[in-house]
Amino acid sequence: MTSELTAVADAIRSHDRFLLVTHENPDGDALGSITAAKLALDRLGKDSTAFLGGGMDIPSEYAFMPLDWLRRELPDDAAERVIIALDCANASRTAINDEVLARTALVVDVDHHHDNTRFGAINLIVPDASSTGEIVADLLRELEVELTPEIAEALYVAVDTDTGGFHYANTTPKAHILAAELLEAGADFHRIFQEIHESVEFAKLKLLARALDRAQIYEHGRLVISYLVRSDFNELGVGEEYAEGIINYLRAVAGVEMAAIIREPPEPPDAERRISMRSSHDELDVSAIARKQGGGGHRQAAGFSSDESIEEIIAFIRHEFAEANAAARA
Ligand code: 5GP
Ligand code: MN
Repeated sequence: MTSELTAVADAIRSHDRFLLVTHENPDGDALGSITAAKLALDRLGKDSTAFLGGGMDIPSEYAFMPLDWLRRELPDDAAERVIIALDCANASRTAINDEVLARTALVVDVDHHHDNTRFGAINLIVPDASSTGEIVADLLRELEVELTPEIAEALYVAVDTDTGGFHYANTTPKAHILAAELLEAGADFHRIFQEIHESVEFAKLKLLARALDRAQIYEHGRLVISYLVRSDFNELGVGEEYAEGIINYLRAVAGVEMAAIIREPPEPPDAERRISMRSSHDELDVSAIARKQGGGGHRQAAGFSSDESIEEIIAFIRHEFAEANAAARA
């Protein structure tokens, strides 16, 4: 890990033009990591631009972050820049087409997904890191970039959201130590909490209500599945990004070992339905289930896209849950 960290730092020092990219349907780690990296490159006097693919709006809980520099179209000179991919488990998550990636002089892959495909020429993959933001923080230390309050806040958003407010199993002492450093550097954690968790739009509450109402338990309460159909989004006038976080309510139910939510994006980008899955213990690897459908993620949080019907997807998840349990008992 140390040599890869040095290799990424060297690549940043020895090049001048960069393209930062993170995954579509971005979460707090994606947005926080790319913001911190952009601010750091600015401080190093580098020419950088940043790209976010996919048509989806940025979730409203991150509206407080200054993101006007984030481009939604790939710049024409993308292949001439060093691409730094943040929080992307594979090349397709970057939404940069293979042809451009192949032409690019150098692709640097910085991520914490255990199933990262190592698609870069340099791969800084730290599965033990709470978040990609934590890896970016190590990189900034290596590059001797000062933690300004703006950089500290961006990194705090990354670590806070990917650890579920320092509650999930990926919360390490290192994540807490970093948080302390970020507070010392001026991150206003309480304001960040209010912006992300206590600025819920009413329409989002109503969408949550529909998902909760439709939730069903299976396998004697060990599996819970819900779904949101296109008309739910259209009637409430909201995009798919409003469904972010709903799955946490499902996973929190007593006795539940696995939760899934199926949703029909109002404007389907690639497939008719998107599925998010969460498991509440490490032995149940939902990323393995997601990979069977061309998706991926972490052992305890993963997702995939599908054109199958809601009934078929539910049947698939139930089957996979039963198989995983049978395998665990064998
Ligand atoms: P979410 O359910 O919040 O969309 O995603 C949970 C986790 O699964 C995230 O870490 C995300 O990176 C990963 N993930 C979600 N969808 C996909 C997908 O289609 N492909 C891959 N490789 N990972 C995904
Ligand atoms: Mn992440």
